[in-house]
Amino acid sequence: MGKVVGIDLGTTNSAIAVLGNDGLPTIIHNREGDNTTPSAVLFDDGEVTIGKQAKNAEKSLPNNVVRYVKRHMGSPDYQFIPDGTDDQYGPEVISSFILRFLVDDASEFLGETVNDVVITVPAYFGDAERTATRQAGEIAGLNVLQVINEPTAAALSFGLKGGYSGKVLVYDLGGGTFDVTLMDISNNNFTVLASAGDRNLGGFDFDNEIIKLAESRYAELGGSIDHGDDSQQALIREQAEGAKHRLSTADKAKIRIGTESITIMREEFERAVADLVTRTRYILEDVMEQSGLAYSDVDKLLLVGGSTRMKIIERSVQEWTGLTADKSVHPDEAVALGAAIVAEIRNAAETGAPPAVRATVSDVVAQGLGVAVLADDGSKMLNSLVVQPQTRAPNRIEASSFSTVGSTREINFQITEGDENGAELQYVKVLGESLLKLDYDLPAKAPLRVVFVINEDQTVEAELHDASNGKLIGQMVVERAANLKPADVTFLRKQSKEIVVQ
Ligand code: AMP
Repeated sequence: MGKVVGIDLGTTNSAIAVLGNDGLPTIIHNREGDNTTPSAVLFDDGEVTIGKQAKNAEKSLPNNVVRYVKRHMGSPDYQFIPDGTDDQYGPEVISSFILRFLVDDASEFLGETVNDVVITVPAYFGDAERTATRQAGEIAGLNVLQVINEPTAAALSFGLKGGYSGKVLVYDLGGGTFDVTLMDISNNNFTVLASAGDRNLGGFDFDNEIIKLAESRYAELGGSIDHGDDSQQALIREQAEGAKHRLSTADKAKIRIGTESITIMREEFERAVADLVTRTRYILEDVMEQSGLAYSDVDKLLLVGGSTRMKIIERSVQEWTGLTADKSVHPDEAVALGAAIVAEIRNAAETGAPPAVRATVSDVVAQGLGVAVLADDGSKMLNSLVVQPQTRAPNRIEASSFSTVGSTREINFQITEGDENGAELQYVKVLGESLLKLDYDLPAKAPLRVVFVINEDQTVEAELHDASNGKLIGQMVVERAANLKPADVTFLRKQSKEIVVQ
């Protein structure tokens, strides 16, 4: 194994880092000299272009540029068809292009081909999104050592730096996702106490609020927006994001639509985003409640992710928690730096070489896992929770409280993701299902045992056993409804190799 790297595959921006000879992680600058790369992909004339150039092309070629693809990870229905082509690209393939760009720059910088990577994901990502992220790495031709949680990575990069010990609260608001993790650090042992999040809450939503404000102001001035005009929409979005950034330091910012110049005041912006900010508070409080700790037990507050630069975020989080944010972590870099540390630890474990850093990490699953069971009255299927949220991962959890209804030779085994025990199935996510066939009859009320195996990546495998004789009825490397089949990954890997990524 050569050099290993850590990758923060972000909704808006991505970053890549490596552990230096001094045992400290450093960001690898991309070919344009930047420490982060916009997660934007341009398809033009058979060529694939990543990063700043792709982002800038959005105004002129809006239907050839994909951004925010992370929001579609694990969504089987999303396919991007660039204008003027019949080609279809799913979220895994689009993400694989971003990964290849980052890794090519790392190989160039390190003077050797990089193959082995650790990729970060939001802590709140479920099984399908994590599997899709790993598959993106595989399609890019990479060996994915591990998929790890972003706030955990950020805490690692903070905690290892100065040998910190204490309880650390990580508030991670990125471009598209939000996570909160409470972690105990002691003697380089990193133990997540609780974690929760929202996979669809980030800077993108704050941009949308500015867009709404600007468009309604424009309408008051007599203007009308053509929402079908993708170039104009891209231009407004770009300006909205720019205005949001300015409002992090200035009291007002301007957006130009047509011939009008519209001024947005910071107070007005803060009023418009108040509900979004409150949503993060509920999640923060949920994490504290689940950990059984109070804010006064927390020693450090880390603000991670570009969106924590917004004044309203820093001010609100400090106000709610009574803590002062630690400024020693770089909001855009901490996650990739932490991923580089985990990459080194994994590399050492696999090669037997002494690691340049020593740390242990113990994480938790942010969402519960369960199986679908028939309601007592036989009318509907309900969720029966087997793995509680905040269960340590990796792990193997068994539950024996299940049984067949009537005598049968087959069982439709459905596994679920979601926190609510007893909820109807539409309120949880069915991760996958298998029709498990037996070569003997199970009588009515035969006891069944369900086993969940949660891997290092926090992806899941499930087994069903006949509890009367311990026999394995069926193993489910879940027929994942939302992911590519292994053969598809192999095919896409071969196919996308032909495509030059620049
Ligand atoms: P990340 O995914 O962590 O790179 O976060 C990207 C998000 O941070 C995007 O929504 C950016 O618009 C936002 N962001 C970056 N810089 C600033 C800033 N100065 N003020 C407000 N938001 C910012």
